[in-house]
Amino acid sequence: MQTIDKFNFAGKKAFVRVDFNVPLDENFNITDDTRMRAALPTLKKILADGGSIIIGSHLGRPKGVSEKFSLKHILKHLSELLGVEVQFANDCMGEEAAVKAAALQAGEVLLLENLRFYAEEEGKPRGLAEDATDEEKAAAKKAVKESQKEFTKKLASYADCYVNDAFGTAHRAHASTALIAKYFDSNNKMFGYLMEKEVKAVDKVLNDIHRPFTAIMGGSKVSSKIEIIENLLNKVDNLIIAGGMTYTFTKAMGGKVGLSICEDDKLDLALDLMKKAKEKGVNLVLAVDAKIADSFSNDANTQFCNVNEIPDGWEGLDIGPKTEEIFANVIKQSKTILWNGPTGVFEFDNFTHGSRAVGEAIVEATKNGAFSLVGGGDSVACVNKFGLASGVSYVSTGGGALLEAIEGKILPGIAAIQE
Ligand code: AMP
Repeated sequence: MQTIDKFNFAGKKAFVRVDFNVPLDENFNITDDTRMRAALPTLKKILADGGSIIIGSHLGRPKGVSEKFSLKHILKHLSELLGVEVQFANDCMGEEAAVKAAALQAGEVLLLENLRFYAEEEGKPRGLAEDATDEEKAAAKKAVKESQKEFTKKLASYADCYVNDAFGTAHRAHASTALIAKYFDSNNKMFGYLMEKEVKAVDKVLNDIHRPFTAIMGGSKVSSKIEIIENLLNKVDNLIIAGGMTYTFTKAMGGKVGLSICEDDKLDLALDLMKKAKEKGVNLVLAVDAKIADSFSNDANTQFCNVNEIPDGWEGLDIGPKTEEIFANVIKQSKTILWNGPTGVFEFDNFTHGSRAVGEAIVEATKNGAFSLVGGGDSVACVNKFGLASGVSYVSTGGGALLEAIEGKILPGIAAIQE
C-alpha cells in the first residue's frame, strides 16, 4: 500500500478529501477549527514536496446549493493556516473547477465548493415527494447512482493522485470518500497523516492488545451501543458500563431506578449481555452508587445513593464516589483502554465529577505505559472540557466512523485505499 510519507508529490496534483465540516456561528465565523488543523500536516507535506492540491470536503447536511453551507466561509481561514492564498471553485463540478484545477501550479491550492451540494456525493436521491411510491423511490435511487459515476469520475479527473484524510466520513461509501479511489491505481492513492493515525489507533485496540484491556462505555442508551458492546466482549478483560445505560442494567437486575433514563424494552438485552460477559470471562463492571437529582437540571437538588435504591421522583445523572473509586482502580491497572461516552450528564457542571474521575484515571494509566484511545463525540468533548486531551494516547476525530471501526466493520473509506 502506498504511504504519504514515501510518496513524492513534486509536479503532481493531489485530490485530498478532508473533513472541513467545522461549526460556524450565525455570522459564518468558525467556532472550532480543530478539523482544519488536523489536516494541515497532510496539506503541508504535499506543498513542501512541490505538489498542488484540490481540496474536497462537505459542510453540514445541505439538501442542495445553499449559502449557509458554502465552503467559501472557511476560505480565508484556510489560506491563513496554510500560508497560501487558496483559490475557490464555486461549483465542484462546473467548467470553472476543471479549468482552475488544470491550471494549478506547484504550491497552489484549490478548494472546491461543498461536495454535498450534489446528491451524487452521498448517492441518495433528493426532492422526492412525501407520497412517492416505492417504484418512484427505487427509480430515483437508480438515477442518482447512475449520475454518481459521472460525478465521481469528474472529481477524479482533476488530479494525478488521491489522498483520503477524512476519517470522520470513512464509514460512508460516498463518491469522494470511497468510490473515487477506484480511478487511481494502488501507487497513486493513500491515506493522509490524520487518517493513518486513526487507522493505527483503531488497529492497536483491535489487534495489538496489551492486557488488561478495559473499555469504558458511557453515554445515554444501551440500544445505540449494543453492537459495539457485543464486539468488545470478545476482546476486553474489563467492560465498564457507565452513563445512562447503567439504569437499564440496574432495573434488569430488579433495582429501583426512579426517573433515571432506562430502556424498558432492553432489560432482557442487558441480562443477556451480562450472561455473555460471564461466559466469555469478561469482568463486567457496573456502578454501585449514583449522584441523583430531583429534576433534569444543573441546579437540581442532589444526593448520593445506592444505584439500585433510587427514590421515586429522583434520577441518576452521574456515578457516585464509590463507583468512581471502583472504576478508577480497574482503569489504573489496565494496559489498553478505550473510552467512549461520559459517565453522566457532563453537559451540566454539577454532574461532571464521574467523567472527570474516569478521564484522570485514564491519564494516570497512560503515564504508566497504557495505550488509551478516546473517541466518539461526547468523550472527546469531555477530555477537552477537563483539559486532559494531552494526557491520553490518542483522541480520535471520528464519531460514527470510530464506533463502526471498533464494532469490527470494514469502513468503505479505508477499504477503498487498502484494496
Ligand atoms: P451518547 O451520544 O450515547 O454517547 O450519549 C451521550 C449523552 O449521554 C450525553 O449527552 C449525556 O448527557 C448523556 N447521559 C449520560 N449519562 C446520563 C444519565 N445518567 N442520564 C441521562 N443522560 C445521560
